Amino acid sequence: MLILKDEYDVIHNFVLLDAHTHLRVNKLEGLVPSEFVRRYSKVVKDVVRDIKKSPKEYRYHFPWKLKNISTDYYQFCQRDIYTVFHPGEELSKAPEKYSCFDFIISFSANLTSPLPRDYRNANSRVRETLIEKSPDDNSPHNNFRFIGFGRLDPNHSDSLDTFDNVCQLGLRGLKLHPKEEQFEINDAKTKYILKRAANNNMPIIFHTQDGMASNIEEVVNETISDFIDADKTDLIPRLKVILGHAPWNGVGNKKLYRALSHPNIFGELSTLKPDSYEDFFSSAKKDVKYERIFDVKQLSELDKKTVERLYFNAFGYNKLNYWSSKLMFGSDTPYPPSHGATPLIKHMLSKRFVGNASDIQNILAVSALRLIPPIARANPQITREKATTSGQYHPMQLEIQKKDSKILGMDPILEVFPKVRISGAVFSFLKNGDVGSYLYKSLFSPKKPLNTVIPNPINLPYSSMTTSRVNMTRNIEMSLGEE
Ligand SMILES: [Zn+2]
Repeated sequence: MLILKDEYDVIHNFVLLDAHTHLRVNKLEGLVPSEFVRRYSKVVKDVVRDIKKSPKEYRYHFPWKLKNISTDYYQFCQRDIYTVFHPGEELSKAPEKYSCFDFIISFSANLTSPLPRDYRNANSRVRETLIEKSPDDNSPHNNFRFIGFGRLDPNHSDSLDTFDNVCQLGLRGLKLHPKEEQFEINDAKTKYILKRAANNNMPIIFHTQDGMASNIEEVVNETISDFIDADKTDLIPRLKVILGHAPWNGVGNKKLYRALSHPNIFGELSTLKPDSYEDFFSSAKKDVKYERIFDVKQLSELDKKTVERLYFNAFGYNKLNYWSSKLMFGSDTPYPPSHGATPLIKHMLSKRFVGNASDIQNILAVSALRLIPPIARANPQITREKATTSGQYHPMQLEIQKKDSKILGMDPILEVFPKVRISGAVFSFLKNGDVGSYLYKSLFSPKKPLNTVIPNPINLPYSSMTTSRVNMTRNIEMSLGEE
């Protein structure tokens, strides 16, 4: 979280997410979760110090005191998660506690074994590493701050089995590395994986460089064609492909921006160099256009309304911020591109950045959060009448719920209008074998209660065909009525 004020003294809570990091497992290169929190606490505090030092450079200012205390790991990951949708005014009383990255997408580094590679062991180690033990009774809970992805080698004979395993482990996406694992991007094997991922609503981040973006565009289009031929148009928006190191495909390469205009393709920003910041963002703003969705030949088989419905229901884009909805911050920690993390955040908050606050929030977290499949499930047994609400936020609420249940995770509720932000979250717990989902919302609006906790919001749709949490949010709002 990075809390700042603009020139009109409006507080902005910028939620921060890193979409490309490597978790240390099996002696492979990477950081353990507590090292990530320590490092990102420093990154965000460095940015704040620079904003305080050179206020003329920035569009935002930081008028509060920042104590030299680093973020407490357990407190931050397991108790303070509600800060991602809490009013900045209150957080500004102790900004040092929350000044850190809020979410970290992490997966294992490359295996060093001969090709083809079997990532199943590394993936389950990723899963284990992201489970925290409660200090009270040692019971296991998922870490709210980390979003684990799995890896696989499409050339391995068990690659589809590995993919199913990634889903079963509760990992939320997939990383593929065509160069390291030496597989063809536009190839039947890769297409199988893409289709499997769409079936499971899982995003895939590819390592890309040197124009691989165009090969990805081809394979994505062929997969869309196959979905249309098989009369599975509902699967189209569930195909979510991220170009890892997108700028490595060439900041001046027109084809990169065309690929990023594709409604199924997104770009992660590691390897973007300071001398290209202005070029890259102004080209993206100019050339990553909503209207270009209709240039995709395969989609032209469908009518325009269907295409809009598919993507807008799924992602809740607004036209103005379309370009930034396609970009996401990434660092490739612990590898060298991660040195660029601090300067890139500084640039985005400076007067030189071409976007507005919603663009900043898209790139710094929401673009990636939109793609993560939700965890929450409906519990039809519990009705609206049994819902409880409390007028005050109770920071220990999560701890209380942890006492007799296990945390599965949180699904942030994302808003795109009037500005891009996280407006609440659904927390899911496992109790006696059942998943219970609790909605926490309304923290921003002064007219509404500071906090609303509603156990098992009714009719929270969870089906294999639910394309996004935008639908989920709408249903929650409907079930809440005039809250
Ligand atoms: Zn990497």
